[in-house]
Amino acid sequence: MSGVTVALTGESLITRPFPTQEEDDTAALRRLITSADLAFTHLEIVCASPPIVPRPRLHGIHVNASSRVLDDLKNWGFELVGLAHNHAMDFGGTGLIQTIAALDARGFVTAGAGPTLSEARRPRYVNAKGARASLLAACSTDADEICASDPDGLFDGRPGISPVRFTTQYEVTSDQFAFLSSLDEALGTAAGSRARHALSLVLGAPDGAHTSAATLRFLNVDFVEGTAPQVHTRPSPADLEQMARWIGEARRQSDLVIVSFHCHEGPNGTSNGNAIADFAVEAARSFIDAGADICVGHGPHQLAAIEIYHGKPIFHSLGNLVFMVETIDILPAEFLSAAGLPARSTAADFHDFREGGSDAGRRGFAHQVEYWQTVVPMCKYDDGRLVGIDLWPVALNRGTVRSRRGVPGLAPRDVGEAIVTRIASLSEGLGTSVSYTEIDGRLVGRVAL
Ligand SMILES: [Zn+2]
Repeated sequence: MSGVTVALTGESLITRPFPTQEEDDTAALRRLITSADLAFTHLEIVCASPPIVPRPRLHGIHVNASSRVLDDLKNWGFELVGLAHNHAMDFGGTGLIQTIAALDARGFVTAGAGPTLSEARRPRYVNAKGARASLLAACSTDADEICASDPDGLFDGRPGISPVRFTTQYEVTSDQFAFLSSLDEALGTAAGSRARHALSLVLGAPDGAHTSAATLRFLNVDFVEGTAPQVHTRPSPADLEQMARWIGEARRQSDLVIVSFHCHEGPNGTSNGNAIADFAVEAARSFIDAGADICVGHGPHQLAAIEIYHGKPIFHSLGNLVFMVETIDILPAEFLSAAGLPARSTAADFHDFREGGSDAGRRGFAHQVEYWQTVVPMCKYDDGRLVGIDLWPVALNRGTVRSRRGVPGLAPRDVGEAIVTRIASLSEGLGTSVSYTEIDGRLVGRVAL
């Protein structure tokens, strides 16, 4: 694997074609990505064709676009596409399978979702410059609701994503624990929990499936007695074990193993921030321990820290590469109604509502600069060894109208400097040092290895 360059990106929420100007920052970014021997993106849309049946319950928005936008991603040199994300089943198994078929038809190599769990889990391979690379992908967000399953001899498999589920436990002091226990009794919810436990035994749950005496499940949350109030999250050991098994497979079958991980969760119940939940850090490191060369994270729609773990890069979140969420053109009536919009509202009404009104400046994404800036890491390998990571700052054309917002281009110098400064500061906490360099008149971050 000599002289191989891999371009990595975060989320492509692409709903319309890229503009085709002759020479601008967007063209320069396209040139950068196509110059790589291998390019990865995470696709955060569903390309479903009629009849399109929406999923009923949703956090966020039903994300859909015409499969024609995939031609643009192909034209930008992407071969590897991650599909494990919380929107993968927005239009059910049919929408997911149609999306995979549309990607297959264009020659993409996809991982992270499929008609069965094994199909969603297993690595896919691509050749680049004589080297063989592999891609696997997983998602934590909504994983319980949209995970795939395998056929078991009696039942067919279920389409869905490759999950990394997690548990949350709240540690409190003895006094706080005693107070919560007394409150649980006083409210009658403790009796309710005991009744539910008894019923679950009737229904066939294993006796040990419930909380131990040291754990209080109060209002559906697990509290444990400890030294100080803090929140603990842990990834599912079973999911990590399955991921490790497939990463081990990819390790033996390829020269470069890339794992894509979609995770919106931050610490203390937060979401879409630049801090990473403990379970996500643990999961990403476990992928490297199992044999991955790169873990490329996304989910919060903004940049998070870069970590060099045992010499291998973990990009905890690369944010948005393409963010055309405001030109999703069809939305289910029940979604619009749940947003509080009157009957016969349309997608444009929703986008107006999210941007405006008395809450303008808090609603929508346009005012949040972090959603519209990212970096594209160019990872260089020589003789199978990682020898450099350059971070090319990218801006997504925020300061314009909805119909043109969200298109990426290499950032001008001043914006680029702000982006590199942010990723350097985010990464510092994990011991990663990012310096500045200049390439072709553009400011570029360089990760110390
Ligand atoms: Zn997501």
